[in-house]
Amino acid sequence: MYIVQIASECAPVIKAGGLGDVVYGLSQELEAQGHTVELILPKYDCMRYDNIWGLHDAYRELSVPWNGAAVQCSVYCGWVHGRLCFFIETHDIAHSFNRGRVYGESDDPMRFALFSKAAMEFLLQSNKRPDILHCHDWQTGLIPVMLYEMYQYYGMDHLRACYTIHNFKHQGIAGPEILAATGLNRPDYYYQPDKLRDNHNNAINFMKGGIVYANNVNTVSPHHAWEARFSEIGCGLQATLEQHQGKFGGILNGINYDMWSPQEDTHITAPYCAEDLTGKALCKKALRERLLMRDCEKPIVCFIGRLDQQKGVHLVHHSIYWSLSQRAQFVLLGSATESGINDMFWREKHHLNDNPDVHLELGFNEELAHMIYAGADIIVVPSNYEPCGLTQVISLKYGNVPVVRGVGGLINTVFDWDYDENLPEEERNGFVFFQSDSSGLESGLQRAIDLWYKNQPKFQQLQSQGMAYDYSWKDPAKKYIEVYDHIRA
Ligand code: ADP
Repeated sequence: MYIVQIASECAPVIKAGGLGDVVYGLSQELEAQGHTVELILPKYDCMRYDNIWGLHDAYRELSVPWNGAAVQCSVYCGWVHGRLCFFIETHDIAHSFNRGRVYGESDDPMRFALFSKAAMEFLLQSNKRPDILHCHDWQTGLIPVMLYEMYQYYGMDHLRACYTIHNFKHQGIAGPEILAATGLNRPDYYYQPDKLRDNHNNAINFMKGGIVYANNVNTVSPHHAWEARFSEIGCGLQATLEQHQGKFGGILNGINYDMWSPQEDTHITAPYCAEDLTGKALCKKALRERLLMRDCEKPIVCFIGRLDQQKGVHLVHHSIYWSLSQRAQFVLLGSATESGINDMFWREKHHLNDNPDVHLELGFNEELAHMIYAGADIIVVPSNYEPCGLTQVISLKYGNVPVVRGVGGLINTVFDWDYDENLPEEERNGFVFFQSDSSGLESGLQRAIDLWYKNQPKFQQLQSQGMAYDYSWKDPAKKYIEVYDHIRA
């Protein structure tokens, strides 16, 4: 099968969160299973160009119809750790992808609508006719719309679209100017409630477009698929999902064990495996040295992730002080986009500056993330909602025991050491709590820290059991292939 992934991120060349990991990891596994995969991404100024091999121009003069005129684009091609990627450079006056960052611009809907349109034109003009277009999140939600409403009439009628939603919170809301720009036009038609009209506002909703028009829609864990349909986690799209329930489901994300394995990780001090955790002790020591923390007989609790309401920042904050009060050390690696949250964590950082048992690293740092996964004993993931969550899955492989809130994909991947009645003790791998208040978090974290202090052999057993889990892309990729086969049939 010939599959083209169209997305706004692909690790490690451009990554703001899990989406980048997923796009890369899934593509790699699909190829390993014998399929042809190509990726189309925007050519951002802020990409990690050192991770692209052999970048050259592939299609110099791509004229993209836009706003009744045209935007000139150039398409570059290169390999990102073996994956063939096409990068679209847009020569528009707004310099859409030369903003020094991936998201957070006031014209994000227009930028990604332009990218989506350019991607379709690139396929059309270069005569690429994949079997499957796999689009991700709101940024590419208009692609199934354009495929069905326009491009199928230009000889692209056998292409099928699969649409994966990684986060319902961000849907791409815009006005009718998007319709005019992309050439979809006809606001009366697209503003119908069964088309692109947002379920609550008089606006165009990109994600809703993806759901309505794609041949198959999924989100990134089975439990989150249920939550999105039946609770406010669907962020207003519940009725649309209900209407399209026959083509909607959940496929759990995998992770790429070439990038995330303590046996092969080049960012960490010493390799280790479940049978021999000596290397992990060296990684813990190295982490403390790197972060100028005290070397002592205490567990290290960590948090890695975006500092945002989704991730339960109030509980992340509480877990710092509560861990310290329970004789644990704490390491945080996170970046905030909201200034209020950013200020709060900077204040905490200054406040805790002289405490040798804690380190807060504010920003995005891939290498340090690897060191923390390897050096810490426990990770907290107290999310308000979590479509899949990768940090707990990566942590399991690094023997870093997860303490998670029982929502979304967290509940599909972490099984409580004390209370999971569906699994025998030898298959449990972490701690789960349900309440979203401090006492909920404490109940999970306390059990993890207590086990570390009171029963080291059992704690190590729990670590080994987590490390034995296989959350690779093998099974999820098979499920995606089944979906692709189904929608082609
Ligand atoms: P998200 O909701 O952000 O997609 P996930 O848990 O699915 O959350 O994926 C997060 C990914 O981003 C993981 O690979 C994690 O290691 C990485 N990550 C998150 N924040 C940071 C950071 N500040 N520095 C380095 N890596 C980070």
